[in-house]
Parts: sequence; structure tokens; C-alpha cells
Amino acid sequence: MAADILLEVKDLGKSFGPLRVLNGISFNLRRGERVALIGPSGSGKSTCLRAINFLEPPSEGEIRLEGTLIGRRRNGRLMTEREMAPQRADIGMVFQHFHLWPHLSVHANVALQPTKVRGLKRGEADKLAAELLAKVHLSQKADDMPHRLSGGQQQRVAIARALAQQPKLLLFDEPTSALDPELVGEVLTVIKELAQEGRAMVLVTHEIAFAREVADRIIFMDGGRIIEEGPARAVLDDPQTARLKQFLASLQ
Ligand code: ADP
Ligand code: MG
Repeated sequence: MAADILLEVKDLGKSFGPLRVLNGISFNLRRGERVALIGPSGSGKSTCLRAINFLEPPSEGEIRLEGTLIGRRRNGRLMTEREMAPQRADIGMVFQHFHLWPHLSVHANVALQPTKVRGLKRGEADKLAAELLAKVHLSQKADDMPHRLSGGQQQRVAIARALAQQPKLLLFDEPTSALDPELVGEVLTVIKELAQEGRAMVLVTHEIAFAREVADRIIFMDGGRIIEEGPARAVLDDPQTARLKQFLASLQ
């Protein structure tokens, strides 16, 4: 493994019963690299992200983070949830629908996880949560309950919560597609700021202008396969396949 490879996705396959959803997905992510995963609805983008952190155990293939096999023991057996917890902490995930804990304050949503998955003391976790809420521009909302916040604010809390795990890799699954249009920008701004810090991320998005700006590389999926991939501008400005041309046209 080259030293600068963070994530290796190798021959990933997934079936739900007879339905073949992912087929031979392979790609690497270097440290600090940002990849945007694009493709039509149903093409397998969410399943791919969920397979990377074993929320959805793949049917075939391997995921490695810094060379270490994710989700499986050396004999190939699936790890238990408890065994997987530290690995999950290394791979922060932000979902379309935020999934904040409704009964916890904004601050507690961010501060809880690092005490559980990183063994931080309460005071350390509180300090970290305060720093991260400042980073997503929400310090003033720390004591509110999630339902008091707008969707854009809730998503920024979810991003702070993912960061609180001190992940090596961030996965975003259409982080702005559940938001009212006027709230999209504030979330994209936060993700852009994280990108500028050099954080590695895989980002599923329909915001093509954003993908062009933030991603080093684009992977276009259709029918559970990678159809095209390459540098963001090359892929978006000079699509090689009819399928990608059609997909890009459909977004305009
Ligand atoms: P995308 O995120 O690109 O829209 P998904 O990964 O969500 O695509 O879904 C890909 C395909 O897998 C779809 O046909 C979807 O219905 C199917 N699928 C996803 N999750 C499940 C599941 N838990 N059980 C059965 N089929 C699923
Ligand atoms: Mg999806």
C-alpha cells in the first residue's frame, strides 16, 4: 500500500436478495483527497457509502483504512458492532436527514460521542464540542434542542458531531438535499471550509457546481458500477459516455 493512500475500496459488491446494487466498485482515496460520487437516483451511491463503514456489510470486496481491513476479522468473519465501533469512529458519516438525537441539546449531541468512542473525559469532550460548534458557526445554539433549529443548522450540528469522533475520513450522503434552497449555502460553506483544512472526504451530491469546486476527483456511478472517473473538471467538462452526458444534462 502506498503510504499516502487513506482508503482502499476493492471489488465492492452488494446484493439485496436477487437485486444486484453494487458491482465491482474499486477506488482509492489519498490523504486529504476529496471525491464526489455522482449518479442517478438508485445507482447505488448511498449503499456504497454505507458499505464503506459497514453500516451495510458488503456482499463482496474489501475496505481498508490506512491498510487495516474494516468490518471483518482476519478470517473474513463479520466483526460485532462492538468490535466495529472504533473503526466507525474513524469514518464520520453525515446523512441526508441529520439524525440528531432529539432528546439531547445541541451541545450534548456533539459532546456525547467522543466520551464513548474516544474515551475523552467529560470536560475534554465539552471543550471539543464547544470548539466544533464554533467551527460550524453555531456556538450561540449550544443549549437549544435540535427541533428549535433550522434544517441547515441541524445539518451543521450533525457535521460537528461527525467531527467530534475525530475521524480520519468523512462521508457525506447528499447533505443538502433535504434542505430548503435558502439553507443549502450555509451547509456547503461549512463543508468547503473542512475541505480547505485538507480533510479527506467522499461526498455524494447533486450539487454539481459544488462538486466541481470542492472535489479533486469525480466518480460517476450508474447501475451499481463506476462508469467514469477522473479529475473533477475533466469529468464534468468532457464526459466520455452517453450516460454521463445524459445525467449532467438532466441536472440542468
Ligand atoms: P442512490 O443512493 O444512488 O439513490 P441507493 O444506494 O440508495 O442508491 O440504492 C440502490 C438500489 O438499492 C436501489 O434500487 C434501492 O432500492 C436498493 N436498496 C437500497 N437499500 C436497500 C435495502 N436495504 N434493501 C433492499 N434494496 C435496497
Ligand atoms: Mg442515496
